[in-house]
Formats: sequence, structure tokens, C-alpha cells
Amino acid sequence: MTVRNHQPYDETNVFARILRGEIPCRRVHETEHALAFHDINPQAPVHVLVIPKGPYVSLADFTAHAPAELVAGFFRAVGETARMLGLEETGYRILANAGPHAHQEVPHLHVHIFGGRPLGPMLTRLPGN
Ligand code: 5GP
Repeated sequence: MTVRNHQPYDETNVFARILRGEIPCRRVHETEHALAFHDINPQAPVHVLVIPKGPYVSLADFTAHAPAELVAGFFRAVGETARMLGLEETGYRILANAGPHAHQEVPHLHVHIFGGRPLGPMLTRLPGN
């Protein structure tokens, strides 16, 4: 287990296992720095996840600790993936959950790409907000 900023990276998380080829995924795009694949439980007609090839829990962990080539390569792959999915014209949303308030389920940095229909407001309004 790699410890970064008191945030342990769990090598057994599902995206680490996908990167190691231990469980399958429906791949969309792959580069030296990133892997993009369809979400197993899609929330929109297009719902793809992009993950960096490295042990980073969150965006803060990634941008603080990853080499510059990996940070650049990862974000380049997110843009390439959106283009490859044909979302440039109609538009899309990217989202990265971090920590409990954002309901991050998998503790390996991932960017969601949503598209294929109008996506509605950015956040669901909760009672009292
Ligand atoms: P989070 O809430 O952490 O931002 O989102 C995790 C996402 O990973 C969820 O949308 C969930 O459906 C997806 N997911 C969880 N396990 C798997 C899996 O084994 N394969 C794929 N392709 N997606 C997964």
C-alpha cells in the first residue's frame, strides 16, 4: 500500500485491478498514461471513465504527486476520449468525485465523461439548499 498525504492507495481497488488486466472492461481509448472505458452502470447514453495509469486516489493526490508528463498525458487522454466518442458537437460533461461528500466509490482517480443527451442542471438541489 502506497501512503500519500495520509491517503492510502488501495492496490486492490477495482480500477487498479482493471489496469492490471485482472478484470475486464469495455475499452474506448488507451495511451501510455491513461485508460478510458465504459462505466458498468451508465447514468447517460454515453458514460465513460478515464483513469490515469498510476496509484493516485484523487485529483489533489494526482496533481500533487504525479510526474508532469503523466498529468499532461492524462488530461490529453480525457479530451481525446471525448472527441473519439463524437461528443464535441453536442457537448458533454466531465466530473471527478473526491471523498465522502462527493460519494467517491472507487479510490483511484477517475474522470467521468457524460453525454448523448441534454444533461440537466449541474447539481441536484437537495432540501435546504
Ligand atoms: P465514483 O462514485 O467513485 O465517482 O464512481 C465510480 C464509478 O465506477 C461508478 O459510476 C460505477 O458504476 C463504476 N464502476 C464500479 N465498478 C466498476 C467496474 O468493475 N467496471 C466498470 N467499468 N465500472 C465500474
